[in-house]
Amino acid sequence: MKIIDFHTHYDCRWFDTVLMDEAQFLPGMDRLGVTIACCSTLMGFHEDCRRHNDLMAAKCWKRPDRLIPFATVDPKLGRPAVEELDRCLSNPLFRGVKLHPVCQSFAPSTVRETMIEILKCAARHGAPVMFHDGTPPYASTFQIAAVARWVPEAAIVLSHGGLSDYVYSAGQLLRDLPNLYACYCAPRSGDLRWLVDAAGPDRVLFGSDFGAGTWKVLAERIDSVMEAGLDPASMEKVLHGTAERLLHLQERPLK
Ligand SMILES: [Zn+2]
Repeated sequence: MKIIDFHTHYDCRWFDTVLMDEAQFLPGMDRLGVTIACCSTLMGFHEDCRRHNDLMAAKCWKRPDRLIPFATVDPKLGRPAVEELDRCLSNPLFRGVKLHPVCQSFAPSTVRETMIEILKCAARHGAPVMFHDGTPPYASTFQIAAVARWVPEAAIVLSHGGLSDYVYSAGQLLRDLPNLYACYCAPRSGDLRWLVDAAGPDRVLFGSDFGAGTWKVLAERIDSVMEAGLDPASMEKVLHGTAERLLHLQERPLK
């Protein structure tokens, strides 16, 4: 079955921890049958976004049929952040945005004005915006869901579908907010079942955090989808259908 991993990190290092390089990343995906990976930075959350966005584009450009770069910006910078996002999303290679309130040190409400512009820019380009969620004080699932109300035309993705503590609320929030999606990354099998039952499989997609750990993390994450007891049609939507829609893969196939 086709698998799109919506939540990976393709970066050379995480501070002093060396991460997977080119020789390991794609073989790691192959090993577990992942067809396409949406790739976010890690060090770009801490260092110059523009440089890291360019590095990410160059790395993914080597396999544009399988690696999709997500851009990041620092919303604390105000207008330049919106301009950087527009620059990235004008390149058809980039198809999404990743923001990490904890690593990037902002609560959405503290940068509200810029965040609204960022979300409008992403919506104009048809790019989903994925936020790390599930960890207060900056990124509780409620704080992330709130931004979906600010710009209803933007597609907002909870990176961790509520992580552990907020999964129940995540299901309720998905039901209430038609532009909110949950990436099932880290919660347990029963949590996936809850999210799908609460909001339907068209609002839930698979992700693993692959790249931030080893390929073994990916194996465990895929297992927990397989063991969630979903019907085959829902399983297909979670593993690739919902992501295909958000990434516009039908209208703009990868080359
Ligand atoms: Zn992550």
